Amino acid sequence: MIPIDLSGKNGIVFGVANDRSIAWGITQALSQAGARIALTYQGDRLKERVEALAATMEGAITLPCDATDDEQIAQVFQSLKEEFGEISFLVHSIAFANRDDLSGRYADTSREGYRIALEVSAYSLLPLLRHAEPLMANGGSVVALTFDASQRVYPGYNVMGTAKAALEHGVRQLAYEFGEKNIRVNAISAGPLETLAARGISGFRDMRHTAAEKAPLKRNITVDEVAQTALFLCSGLSSGITGAIIPVDAGYHIMAV
Ligand code: NAD
Repeated sequence: MIPIDLSGKNGIVFGVANDRSIAWGITQALSQAGARIALTYQGDRLKERVEALAATMEGAITLPCDATDDEQIAQVFQSLKEEFGEISFLVHSIAFANRDDLSGRYADTSREGYRIALEVSAYSLLPLLRHAEPLMANGGSVVALTFDASQRVYPGYNVMGTAKAALEHGVRQLAYEFGEKNIRVNAISAGPLETLAARGISGFRDMRHTAAEKAPLKRNITVDEVAQTALFLCSGLSSGITGAIIPVDAGYHIMAV
């Protein structure tokens, strides 16, 4: 087995809310490989919890960042420049839709509900990458988190499916635009995992049950499996991969009946 060594590398992870967050699993894998990491938290409500998690990791820093606030985004990267100088990876693990828009009819999504879901879950990747670019002068790896509802209908996932389709298109477009700078942009399409964000989706339990029943591996995936794939994508082992949407879903996406 080739060990992944990220010692001397720095990066930033957006999207830790608690110890069940996919972003936290990814952070732990990156930290265990030797990387130094900045974690962001959305608002004061999550500050203490994220700071307590960061305190368990050598050299980690925490910064406030609401992805709808351009000033906060600029401040995050100013602080990163001062603390780290250079970064080699960025993990985008954030998504949001109003709870009302994650049940009932998709056709009833409000204009505002549609806007906020797309802004937080898809558009946000663009300003983050724009700000990261000067700190990735020696190349870098960007990893976003997506879901199969970008391609197929999962009743209840509604407008978040639209947001994931936009995010995946963004991954390809950005991979093209940043390729010359050796900045790679990929996404992991994870199977359903019990997290805070998942709790808001109506019928989520059924989704997990169906996935475990139908997937070739006959089970649900774990956060660790997503984290290991993110670690691979943030490392030189994936140097030839960009613009890819990599399913980590026990094979569920290949199945029809
Ligand atoms: P989570 O609730 O732990 O993480 C979601 C994060 O988004 C939170 O940290 C939250 O603070 C952040 N966020 C929401 N609005 C924000 C804003 N305006 N600014 C900054 N941050 C904001 O849940 P999770 O399941 O770990 O979700 C992480 C990512 O993984 C999301 O993109 C989600 O769609 C994706 N994903 C999740 C699953 C699943 O089943 N849990 C499956 C596939 C993909």
